[in-house]
Amino acid sequence: MTRTDPHTLRLDFPVHLGAEPAEPVTGPTAFCVLASSSSGNCSVLIHGEGLLRRVTLIDCGLSPRRTRLLLARMGLDFSVIDDILVTHLDGDHFYAGWTKALPRHTWLHMHRKHLKRAVNAGVPMGRVTAFEEPFTLRCGVHVRPTVLTHDAWGVVAFRLDIRGVSLGYATDLGRASPPLIKAMKGVDVLAIESNYCRRMQIDSDRPEELKERIMGGYGHLSNEECAAACRKIEPREHVVLLHLSRQCNSPDTAKGHHAGAGYRLTVADPEWPMEPIVLDRA
Ligand SMILES: [Zn+2]
Repeated sequence: MTRTDPHTLRLDFPVHLGAEPAEPVTGPTAFCVLASSSSGNCSVLIHGEGLLRRVTLIDCGLSPRRTRLLLARMGLDFSVIDDILVTHLDGDHFYAGWTKALPRHTWLHMHRKHLKRAVNAGVPMGRVTAFEEPFTLRCGVHVRPTVLTHDAWGVVAFRLDIRGVSLGYATDLGRASPPLIKAMKGVDVLAIESNYCRRMQIDSDRPEELKERIMGGYGHLSNEECAAACRKIEPREHVVLLHLSRQCNSPDTAKGHHAGAGYRLTVADPEWPMEPIVLDRA
């Protein structure tokens, strides 16, 4: 199905709405953050086993070259990327080089409100599916998007259902608003940003307007805000902390706010993949 939206912008090319008919992949699905920082964010869902494995990326904020390298370390070829879910189009979540490096069959999934910016960034619109409502990827993963505040354009948090196991992915959040809590409530695995230590941010030599942008409710979540959000969300099994500031945070500082929590905790590395989390129920 193709359609253009006369209300938000005029597009002289087709925008594909929703996904193609699902071809669910059998076998386990694993979640892995390849790297996460303000220098670049990319996570991966690996579906299936052996030669039949397929891949969904969440954000593509690393260069295609770096992404290819990190996937290769996991024994994955670039050509197995079927879908890329895009939270928003800031350069650390959508690396500009992807506009010319998409594997031939790969679809980009982005919110309709980000399309105009995507056009301006040179994203090939023939490779984009625009969403506003929940949808299902070809691999069978159900995606529930929620738009939240972040800078001028907003950001999308995703709640994914993978054969009965739920994964929440929320980054660049501005604030831990009630819609975020509601969207993520009770997920099995929660990947959420824990960007900065408030004290380190205030004491840093950064320009005051940058501090205000980050801490003013439209930028990023602090460690304290992240931990408070987790207490409300009540993730069942595992929390992965994303997007730690190198200048104004440290893994131990971020972790310290979750002491005594009933879930496992992983801090995503800015450079290298974490140990994958298998999402299927035993
Ligand atoms: Zn970011």
